Amino acid sequence: MAQPVAFITGITGQDGSYLAELLLRQGYLVHGLVRRASMFNRSRIEHLRHDPAVYGKSLFLHYGDLQDATALRRIFRQVRPSEVYHLAGQSHVGLSFEIPEVTCHEVGNATLGLLEILRDQDYPVRFYHAASSEIFGTPESSPQNEETPTRPGNPYGCAKAFAVHLCRVYRKAYGLFVCNGIAYNHESPRRGENFVTRKISLAAARIKLGLQDKLNLGDLDVRRDWGYAPEYVEGMWRMLQQPEPDDYVLATGQSHSIRDFLSAAFARVALDWRSHVIFEERFVRPTEVNGLVGDPSKAKARLGWEPKTRMAELAGIMVDADLEAQRPGA
Ligand code: GDP
Repeated sequence: MAQPVAFITGITGQDGSYLAELLLRQGYLVHGLVRRASMFNRSRIEHLRHDPAVYGKSLFLHYGDLQDATALRRIFRQVRPSEVYHLAGQSHVGLSFEIPEVTCHEVGNATLGLLEILRDQDYPVRFYHAASSEIFGTPESSPQNEETPTRPGNPYGCAKAFAVHLCRVYRKAYGLFVCNGIAYNHESPRRGENFVTRKISLAAARIKLGLQDKLNLGDLDVRRDWGYAPEYVEGMWRMLQQPEPDDYVLATGQSHSIRDFLSAAFARVALDWRSHVIFEERFVRPTEVNGLVGDPSKAKARLGWEPKTRMAELAGIMVDADLEAQRPGA
């Protein structure tokens, strides 16, 4: 059988980097799309880029941009990917209120652009779309599953819902192998530092090491269904190995408040978070989604996928990694 070829948009992100590692372990040729920027932003894949056994042999990076259809088509023609994992795009909900147009172009229209390219290919390509629990907004029922109606509560959720529905339309209308992975929040030591879990784990580590004293946060009562990112990329890969394309929820089925995560993270370094956390209005969002908790039973039944790492363990993993990285001389 020919060696499978994957193309990942968003390879420099949290999920893209874990997915690249997984696919390389599975013997794939991995091609990734990277955006030109004045500063390199590839820290999450630096270890792969510096591995002479990997970079240029089974891992290849291509300059490009989701808005640049010509460059994307060229990459498709050169690479002929058997699987495409579309993970790229502005992914911060809070920021999507500040830059809604960029968010909708990157998250919504860019997905449509890729579907159009997919439609024009003369060979079968499997496509994974990184959908999000944000499409449900504040849903009428909990937990949510693949049938729950979309009702987004912010620009990011609107753009993702638009893309999810287009993926469904293209699957039905053109018979394309397109899957929506409706992933709930998934975190790791590679999570961006402006997401609340990473903000907390980094602060807990730095406060422990005497590098800072205070942590400014917004609403502590909101709840999220938090899982461990390396497990979620395994679910993404499994979706594309099925005989038929479909949509799947990836979630733990348990939700916790920011307060719960704070307790778990600060307990790891034997500190009381109440002595360090300061409320800051700036981090409260114009609208908040609530009641997001996913039902992963379809993924379990069909993909054999099950989340293993729960919130407290996840907080521990993240704090330990930040302690290690923040230690003087690290
Ligand atoms: P999201 O679920 O994709 O928006 O992930 P985030 O980690 O950015 O935010 C999770 C929740 O934490 C949201 O409901 C935020 O309102 C809440 N939150 C409270 N304080 C903060 C903060 O300082 N930063 C961020 N990013 N979120 C915060």
